Amino acid sequence: MGHIVNPDREHRLLQKQLDRKVQGAPDSPTLIKILTLLFSPEEANIARQMPQQPTSLESLSRGLNMPRKELDRRLTEMAHRGVVLDIEHKGERYFMLPPVVIGLFEFTFMRARPDMPMAELARLFEEYFTENDRFISTLFQGKTQLFRSFVREESILHDDHTEILDWERASHIVTSASAISVGLCQCHHALTHLGKSCDRPQEVCLSFNHGAKTLVRNGYAREISTAEAMRVLEKSKAAGLAQTGDNVQRKVSFICNCCGCCCHLMLGMKTFDLHHGVVTSNWIMDVDLEKCKGCGKCATACPVNAIEIAETLEGDKKRKWAVRDEKICLGCGVCYSACKFGGATMRPREKRVFTPETAFDQMVAMAIERGKLASLIFDDPQKLSHRALGRIIGVLEKSPPFKAAMAIKPLKSAFLSAVVNGARRKSGKLGEMLK
Ligand code: SF4
Ligand code: SF4
Ligand code: SF4
Repeated sequence: MGHIVNPDREHRLLQKQLDRKVQGAPDSPTLIKILTLLFSPEEANIARQMPQQPTSLESLSRGLNMPRKELDRRLTEMAHRGVVLDIEHKGERYFMLPPVVIGLFEFTFMRARPDMPMAELARLFEEYFTENDRFISTLFQGKTQLFRSFVREESILHDDHTEILDWERASHIVTSASAISVGLCQCHHALTHLGKSCDRPQEVCLSFNHGAKTLVRNGYAREISTAEAMRVLEKSKAAGLAQTGDNVQRKVSFICNCCGCCCHLMLGMKTFDLHHGVVTSNWIMDVDLEKCKGCGKCATACPVNAIEIAETLEGDKKRKWAVRDEKICLGCGVCYSACKFGGATMRPREKRVFTPETAFDQMVAMAIERGKLASLIFDDPQKLSHRALGRIIGVLEKSPPFKAAMAIKPLKSAFLSAVVNGARRKSGKLGEMLK
């Protein structure tokens, strides 16, 4: 690999590569400053050439024209710093450039880092997330999101219990995980460096299965037992934190415990009025007007300001009661726990919310909605397995025809024939569209 002559150029090209990801990374001088602190010019040069998919050391070494041993040393060091992801699969190591969120931001603030200018990074990330709505709007565009809200199981009436599915229960995710880790809540930790965080517990970010193993292996989180993970959940609930997690049904990889004052997701939704940024649970809060005393505890506890207190004069007496905004309520049930009078109740939503089955379906749906299918999947179309192709076609068929057509347009030269054949075999509307 040649000597870097223009270091700034490497960080600019790295930003472009990050922006090709489904989550996006709009250009900004603040982002370039963050990348400059996280990557040396040589590392930026490696990272910007990494395909969007996890790629083996062998193919990276060929693609980058770099001796395998030297590349292994550099990538391992970068993985320890959280600027590339390393994944072990069937005895082989794969590497990937993480997105800004969930990725570079989280890995930077998931643990204490004496080797990094943490306060400066915290300030820059906060500036990037809030300087305007470009980052948050890009992250939240489309219907499919990275996060979904989990309802507090204890808030569900006995009769409604049959309606809650296993993957909707935080307790089931914890008790069925093959490995669990806990790390620092990154949003909370970042704000601590700016002297702005609240005093709720910080070691509450739970990861599961493969994700947990990777975080533990790289020293980002510590492995914990099922019993300890249940205690983390209970402690978080008692502190008024809302459970949000991976927006998939199978192999949920994380559950966050978020507050409305530190969580960048909640803050982004409130600041920019983008309330679809976290997908709601299948429940919604209802006020029982018979029991509500208008004390306002639920409104204070709600992480997204979905509750206001209304008041009127009845004779010479003031009457107050809670009013919930349907468009904002996440269905988390934090208000249920805050109410001591039984006035905050949870009921199932009339229409069930769609949740992608797997992380792959989630990414494909997000890529279609954001016009990024080509850059997500097709670094090397020849390597796409039939199974993966089948799932892509499945998601495309469920997408609005216009979106699906736009998504496949840039793929025509590379692999359209494979999609056409697959879609025709399934004879869905996509097959018709592609004829
Ligand atoms: S999303 Fe919520 S829990 Fe996760 S890091 Fe941010 S504040 Fe913490
Ligand atoms: S619902 Fe409960 S917490 Fe909210 S105002 Fe009414 S009584 Fe208070
Ligand atoms: S009103 Fe607020 S606290 Fe209650 S369920 Fe909705 S989002 Fe959660």
